[in-house]
Amino acid sequence: MTSGESPNEHKGQPGLVSAALSGLCPRCGGKTLFAAPAALADECANCGLDIRSLERGGRFVGVVTMLLALVLILAALGVDEWLRPPLWASFLFWGPLTVVSVIFGLRLYKTMWVYHQYEETQQP
Ligand SMILES: [Zn+2]
Repeated sequence: MTSGESPNEHKGQPGLVSAALSGLCPRCGGKTLFAAPAALADECANCGLDIRSLERGGRFVGVVTMLLALVLILAALGVDEWLRPPLWASFLFWGPLTVVSVIFGLRLYKTMWVYHQYEETQQP
């Protein structure tokens, strides 16, 4: 009897956010989706899934980046009006935040896109 604590073998999809954070391959779940912080790998180093061909349509990525940057700039301007922080504080705060947000936004967007495309290819 090995029914003690058999883990669920149910292979559900990982949450998109955790998939984006860890860069999980939609097919094998390996951490192979990203070759750089915000750049997809050409293919999965683990199972050989052709990630680049799933990425088609990535032309929207530029729009997403611009929208994100715009929102952050507007937010920065709003905070400036509201708190009137010293300039160095603004740079210190918004610089890293912008970089992190843009990279995370791109990762999330690309992951969503690849997972969506992958599901499409899985349908008969
Ligand atoms: Zn894989």
